[in-house]
Amino acid sequence: MSQTVKRLKYDVAIIGGGPAGMMAAGRAAELGASVILIEKNASLGKKLLITGGGRCNVTNDTLDVRALSAKLKNKGKFLFSAFAQHAVRESLDFFHSHGMETKVENEGRIFPVSNTARSVYDVLVNYMKNGKVEIALGITARSFHIRLSKIVGLNIAGLGTQSIVADSYILATGGTSHPETGSTGAAFPWLALAGHTIVPPDVAMVPIKIAEKWVRDLSGVSNQNAKLSLYENDKRTASSIGRMVFAHFGLSGPLVINFSGDVREAMQYAESDDKIELSLDIMPDYDPAKLDQKIQEIFKTNQNKKLKNALRDLVTPAMVSTIITLTKLDPEKEINLVTRAERLVLGKLLKDMRMTPTGFLGKEKAIVASGGVKLEEIDFRTMQSRLISNLYLIGDVLDIERPSGGYSLQLCWTTGWVAGTHAVEKKF
Ligand SMILES: Cc1cc2nc3c(=O)[nH]c(=O)nc-3n(C[C@H](O)[C@H](O)[C@H](O)COP(=O)(O)OP(=O)(O)OC[C@H]3O[C@@H](n4cnc5c(N)ncnc54)[C@H](O)[C@@H]3O)c2cc1C
Repeated sequence: MSQTVKRLKYDVAIIGGGPAGMMAAGRAAELGASVILIEKNASLGKKLLITGGGRCNVTNDTLDVRALSAKLKNKGKFLFSAFAQHAVRESLDFFHSHGMETKVENEGRIFPVSNTARSVYDVLVNYMKNGKVEIALGITARSFHIRLSKIVGLNIAGLGTQSIVADSYILATGGTSHPETGSTGAAFPWLALAGHTIVPPDVAMVPIKIAEKWVRDLSGVSNQNAKLSLYENDKRTASSIGRMVFAHFGLSGPLVINFSGDVREAMQYAESDDKIELSLDIMPDYDPAKLDQKIQEIFKTNQNKKLKNALRDLVTPAMVSTIITLTKLDPEKEINLVTRAERLVLGKLLKDMRMTPTGFLGKEKAIVASGGVKLEEIDFRTMQSRLISNLYLIGDVLDIERPSGGYSLQLCWTTGWVAGTHAVEKKF
């Protein structure tokens, strides 16, 4: 895989090395096209590798095309002509013929038998390698150069005034969720400039319900400067700082509401044995060492006070008894008797109060609605833009609501395969 671009003219240029882009690239190359796939990360499929808790729910056992379309509610009607060419049966045949066995689990969720997303990744990378797709990693596409409703070049960061030229361009840059994987929605402004309508993402900003009683006991207590982090199987996947308030059901306030989209998505794609947790840091301005120093200073000036009283100099009084309960420290203990180990337990808790999200307040949606390009502007027989003749749009770039259960990736296989097929059809 290259870090640079070997030449500047290709039959097909694909932007985005996620599941949709890789499927499209492999398919176009299989049909004989010279293909370049441009990925801004140093590796392909970062989001793909975290799907299904790392096991990748690759599709759903909904073999009937009508039933499959019905799963996408009012968006299903658009997909019908694409599913008629490549749906679940064809995707399963594709993965099986490339040596990846699958199994069906509850609610028809299909996983690789190997239980790892790496198997799906390997199939796609080999598919591209077999077709001699040029994979350009660490290269960021900046914008399209459009003339008379046709793309005449793709501007690339670092290539100066030169651009990559192709007969067809397939845009597979993903949506806006989990931006740390590379899906930052960077292409939406270029598409808007080209006349496409971008439906804003519906991130369902709502308060979060929490299981732990101590959270509900603090109802009404607010914190002007708190940091909330999301942990998926002990790995931090998102965090944000702002104002929050404890409520009788869990957490609310601007910080929590803005954060709820990430939490909702994590919970939706989680497997039953996945651990989804929130961590609250009520001292975000202090790193652990600085915080310990601050605690020591407060302890020094409160030597003869009881712990429960000294803590009032550290946190809002309303939180003192919660902190005592969670650290299991003796509230009556005199500060000069508090040990170093006890002090460290206190510091650790102030920076990491764990909570279990159980749901959301208001209308709970069992659907992922990510926003994206308006579907009326796409010809689903080919995945071609109706506004720019040599542009194809696939995967999470499209505004398609779908339930969890493997449908998101099925949309990548379908739209990627259809675009890869039709992007080359005028040529061969
Ligand atoms: C935690 C989680 C778990 C999930 N689990 C499942 C599951 O089990 N089953 C399922 O069906 N779906 C699942 N999904 C959804 C699924 O991952 C997405 O639908 C899918 O990854 C979308 O693929 P894509 O190729 O359209 O975009 P992405 O996977 O987002 O890939 C887009 C790529 O484009 C690159 N890119 C962006 N801008 C540029 C640029 N300017 N230049 C070059 N490259 C660029 C990005 O770096 C990225 O690699 C999950 C999602 C999440 C967040």
